This record gives sequence, structure tokens and C-alpha cells, in this order.
Amino acid sequence: MSLADGGGPAWVRASAPAKINLHLGVGPVRYDGFHPLATVYQAVGLLDEVTVAPAADWTVTVAGDERLALSDVPEDGTNIAVRAARLLAEHAGLDEPVSVRIDKGIPVAGGMAGGSADAAATLVACDALWQLGTPREELMLLAAELGSDVPFALVGGTAVGTGRGEVVVPAMVRGDYWWVVTGAAQGLSTPQVYGEFDVIAEGLGVGEPEIPDELMEALRAHDLEKLALSLHNDLEPAAIRLRPELSDVLATGIDETALGALVSGSGPSCLFLCSGREHAHQVAQSLRLAKAGDPVTVARGPVPGARVERFG
Ligand code: ATP
Repeated sequence: MSLADGGGPAWVRASAPAKINLHLGVGPVRYDGFHPLATVYQAVGLLDEVTVAPAADWTVTVAGDERLALSDVPEDGTNIAVRAARLLAEHAGLDEPVSVRIDKGIPVAGGMAGGSADAAATLVACDALWQLGTPREELMLLAAELGSDVPFALVGGTAVGTGRGEVVVPAMVRGDYWWVVTGAAQGLSTPQVYGEFDVIAEGLGVGEPEIPDELMEALRAHDLEKLALSLHNDLEPAAIRLRPELSDVLATGIDETALGALVSGSGPSCLFLCSGREHAHQVAQSLRLAKAGDPVTVARGPVPGARVERFG
């Protein structure tokens, strides 16, 4: 099928947010090589933008702040944004190559699911470009096929994730949460962090992961002190074993009055819970002065999932 001269938009730009895990519970590795997860996701205001336009061939270019480790993002068919576009085209029975331009705002390989955000943004952008109106449930299935964190990047907000993270149920949450996010010059490989987790877990008898009640209560009540005490990441010891300096970054944030601190997903980004916008900017500035992480950014959550921003 071809859409040539069909009167659709010439290009579509969509955005998608980074995710953080307020709780990341990891179970013993499954028969299929995945780990069962029980996680609480929150989408925060660090965004990638993806612009798609019809082209002679499938191409991808990446732009953004060099401190986000852009050189680690492949500019060929292995880029998850291209894979997302081709998967949707195949699903719709189309043969319509697009050029994909990614403007990165999310640290690469930072444990914030930047690639997943690009995949989700590409799905909604191509759906609009090709005027498909794909039902939400079908987009969610395609998203899960692309990666465990892609469905949440479509949904956004705050949500509970189970399975390998792809089964996403929105959660009841009151108010806004202010975070400081620190990046690192070099990303961490997610499979390597899980490998280290397996080494640590061996012999410890790790059980099935669960969502702690206290965390959900804290989110329903917007109780920041309780939330700070409930933040937890089972991958944190593994990330710190691979990057020992992360424990200094976390300690510095707490010394600089952050309410709570944890490694983001598989790291090396770190997250610091603050009491509000002003406090977050103050903690961010202190972390910059202490040279704890680079770049140091303030982000508010929850924010919506992938959505079309503009078209022309
Ligand atoms: P996760 O926690 O979901 O595993 P992450 O946030 O640690 O991911 P990503 O930024 O998603 O890491 O990137 C992981 C790897 O995926 C990169 O090192 C890169 O090689 C590859 N990759 C493929 N496509 C993209 C993309 N569009 N953006 C970023 N990385 C990509």
C-alpha cells in the first residue's frame, strides 16, 4: 500500500519522557533470560523529540547536548526508533520509508529508558504521519514487542509495571514531585548490570518481587518524607559495584539536603527527591558545585507519555 499524494502531513514531531523507577524490585532470572520485575514508574520532564517525514529510505539522525553520550546512539537500522517505525509500517501493511530525526534530552544508557522513549515517540509520530489511527491496545502490543519500557513511555504518568516491566497499570498519585537527575560521562550497559545483579543474588535466595504498600500510600497522600524512605532499587548494589563513585554521588545529594536518593534503573543516572521546585534547583546547584554528576538537571514528574507535538 502507498500513501503518496494522500493529503497527510509532510512531517510529524512527537515527544516522549524519560522514566524513573521509584521502586525497582527484581526477581531471579527467568527461563527466557528476563528478570521478573515489580516496579513503580514515573515519567519525568526530561524529553526526547522525534520528527518523522517521508523519505526515499529509512534513515536516522541524532542531535542534542554532547554530554548526553550521543555517540553511543546508533545511526542505522539498529536504532530502536527505526525499528519502531518499521514495525508499525509492517503491522499496517505499508511500505513507506521515513527519515527519523531524534533530538535527545534524555541521557543515553543512563537507566532512564531514552531509547524506549524514542520508540514510543516514533510509534505515535508515524501513526499520525500515516493517518492510521491504530487502536491504543495495538500500539501497546507493538511497544511491548520493541522493549520492556516502551509501553510505559506511551502511557506516562505514574504506573505499576510487572512482567518484565511491559505490563503497565496507571497508579493513583497526588500532586507533583521534584527530582534532581545527575548524568555521567559514560553510560552503563543494562545487561551488564543485570549480570552483576545475578552474581550478587546467587546464594541469597532472591524471592518474587513485590510493590511495597508504603510507597503507594506515600504517593496517594503526597507524603514526601514517607516517599523518601520508600525509594528502593534492587539494581543499585550492582550498579555501584560497576561504578563505585555512584555511592559518593548519592551521599553528596543527601548531604546537600535531598530528601532521598537512589540510582535510576540500571544507572548510572542518580535521582534525588526534593521538597519542591526551589529546593530542587538549590540541590542541583550544590551537586554541580561538588562536581557530583554531569549534567545535573531538575525534572518534575509525573508528566504525560508520548504525544504528537507539531506537524506540518
Ligand atoms: P534501559 O534502562 O531501558 O535499558 P537506558 O536508559 O539505560 O535503557 P538507553 O538510552 O535506552 O539506555 O540506551 C541503551 C542502548 O541502546 C544505547 O547504548 C544504544 O546503544 C542503544 N540504542 C538504540 N537506539 C537508541 C536510541 N534511539 N536512543 C538511545 N539509545 C539507543
